[in-house]
Amino acid sequence: MHVARLEVLIKLKQLTANVCEVFSSIQGEGLFIGCRQLFLRLAGCNLRCEYCDTKDSWLSPDIALFQESPNSYKMQGINNPINLMKLWEIINNFHPKLHHSLSITGGEPLMQVDTVKILSKRWMDAGGKVLLETNGTLPDKLEEVLHYISYISMDIKLGNGDLSSLWTKHAQFLKLAYESKVSVYTKLVINSSVSYEEINKVMSLVSNVNSTIPVILQPEYKDDNINVSMSQLLEIQWMMLKELKDIRILPQLHKLIGVK
Ligand code: SF4
Repeated sequence: MHVARLEVLIKLKQLTANVCEVFSSIQGEGLFIGCRQLFLRLAGCNLRCEYCDTKDSWLSPDIALFQESPNSYKMQGINNPINLMKLWEIINNFHPKLHHSLSITGGEPLMQVDTVKILSKRWMDAGGKVLLETNGTLPDKLEEVLHYISYISMDIKLGNGDLSSLWTKHAQFLKLAYESKVSVYTKLVINSSVSYEEINKVMSLVSNVNSTIPVILQPEYKDDNINVSMSQLLEIQWMMLKELKDIRILPQLHKLIGVK
């Protein structure tokens, strides 16, 4: 057997992952909204955003849930941490070629960089593509997985007080992603407290890398309502279009139509 394949097999048997859930559904956010994806939600995050809507992914649950099959609503449980070989068996049941991509999300998936690397490689070898959904703050970890992913959805964190210290990390991350030639877009969660100063900072951050990188303005959902006015969103879009080419306002589709 080829040495590289053997190494992957050994790692699959030895390594484990902390997982929240695995399910097949439509992508509800960003550039691939509406596309069928297999979601692998990994546990653990290096941030604590105020508006986080996946707080249950901050710590690893005792039991990870996975859908029985792509069109079943039945979920099964498996104890964490999960052996990567077992996790690959679960994921591989979901037909890589029938999904737009495997969306590796969290939490922050780059906290488990070996899991991302090994499962992405396997999924791609089976003919699939991989979307990495990340908070864009761990550039060193990104470097390790760039060869194994097809698309990057990178959050830029706003309105989070001390999270403003993340600008340097975001800038490094975006530059690395863009220069790698992996297709990258950025996503900002916008609520009524976002300042124009922050928007200006985002404009410089993106235009310093490339002004054609798509930026998604995603209104925050709070208590089942959009927590920002449409006029504010349009004003922000108008302001950004003066410097950047592709600014889209997209709400979270899955919340609007009530799917997972
Ligand atoms: S980075 Fe994402 S998962 Fe982590 S706290 Fe922020 S919104 Fe939640």
